[in-house]
Amino acid sequence: MKLISLLGATGSIGTQTLDVVRHHRQEFKVVAMSTGRNIDLACEQAHEFKPKLLSVQSKDDYEKVRHHVPAETKVVYGEEGLLEVATYPDSVILVNAVLGSVGLGPTLAAIEAGKTIAIANKETLVTAGHIVTEAAKAHQVSLLPVDSEHSAIFQALNGENKREIEKLILTASGGSFRDLSRDELKEVTVEQALNHPNWSMGAKITIDSATMMNKGLEVIEAHWLFDIPYERIEVVLHKESIIHSMVEFVDHSVMAQLGTPDMRVPIQYALTYPKRLAGQSDERLNLSEIGKLHFAQMDPKRFRCMALAYEAGRIGGTMPTVLNAANEVAVASFLDKRLSFLGIEAVIEQALERHHVISGPTLEDIKAVDEETRAFIRSTVN
Ligand code: NDP
Ligand code: MG
Repeated sequence: MKLISLLGATGSIGTQTLDVVRHHRQEFKVVAMSTGRNIDLACEQAHEFKPKLLSVQSKDDYEKVRHHVPAETKVVYGEEGLLEVATYPDSVILVNAVLGSVGLGPTLAAIEAGKTIAIANKETLVTAGHIVTEAAKAHQVSLLPVDSEHSAIFQALNGENKREIEKLILTASGGSFRDLSRDELKEVTVEQALNHPNWSMGAKITIDSATMMNKGLEVIEAHWLFDIPYERIEVVLHKESIIHSMVEFVDHSVMAQLGTPDMRVPIQYALTYPKRLAGQSDERLNLSEIGKLHFAQMDPKRFRCMALAYEAGRIGGTMPTVLNAANEVAVASFLDKRLSFLGIEAVIEQALERHHVISGPTLEDIKAVDEETRAFIRSTVN
């Protein structure tokens, strides 16, 4: 029985993680979990999964929740609460499915406590990739990808020697607006942006997919997870989201991983690795039904956010921290209808341009730059 800590239980990845656990109760148990503001769902989950520990975001919610959970569930709150869940003594693996760079502290704490990390929370790797990967190495802890592209690469690489990799090829669906011109993008609404053609996900990542920042964040995530330089990470448009990503080796052999778009597959693989267990979905990949798969080159002018992410990644230091923090606040402002769709890339570019990069930043540098960038975007949007 594998005991799990789960951050972000009420989110899209969190609820799908619980669905995997629900289908394999002999294999997994969630002993500690965290939620944000959705305390009704959190209470329901607590009654179903009976964790020993539940963390909620605010003290007010803590007061509301603590008499509505099973007797065996201790309730905690705030950033301290996230740390307690991440380092819960019984758990062997942390599934980090929280949203945003708030996941950084708990990830580092879990690494120091020797937990295996199943990481969905890409913002943590973007904002402080060198610190997270160095800590994982120092504590001999595995970072297992949950993001479908990175899980695909991880599966394609199984047992291969890293020096034999020529390049990583990430696939991109193109998001909600893949067929619109830049001119047409000026007028798009929040409701249109939230309507992703292939995947059902949380609001922030759905917007990130529409701006193509998601692919940019994933390029940086791949750089850190697989230790591959940016010039050997490529992105190809693939609108069906059937090939989840590929690895080309030095002999030009290319390995791809395929499947229907179902996040429970990569989530489950991170939990069972190096084994596999039966899947839950009745839906199987049927290539003869699909008939054709399409691929096209990415246009960096059309998808400006992805180009900004490559640039920030190549410069390194605190640039990716700025990129991530600016994007988090810009996307939240777009969702609140205080910033236009193309305004997102414009304010991120401003934040990157004015930033004086710090190379080899410490955790304190990263926290300071993250806060300063958020304040800059907030004042710019206002
Ligand atoms: P959601 O918005 O659906 O869920 C986020 C979770 O984090 C929720 O449980 C939310 O709580 C919680 N949360 C948000 N902010 C805070 C905070 N400040 N403190 C504590 N908890 C907080 O996001 P997703 O599940 O879509 O994404 C989670 C991560 O996984 C992201 O990094 C995303 O990029 C990544 N990812 C997601 C994929 C997907 O298919 N959804 C695919 C690949 C990666 P509550 O809702 O209760 O407020
Ligand atoms: Mg992805």
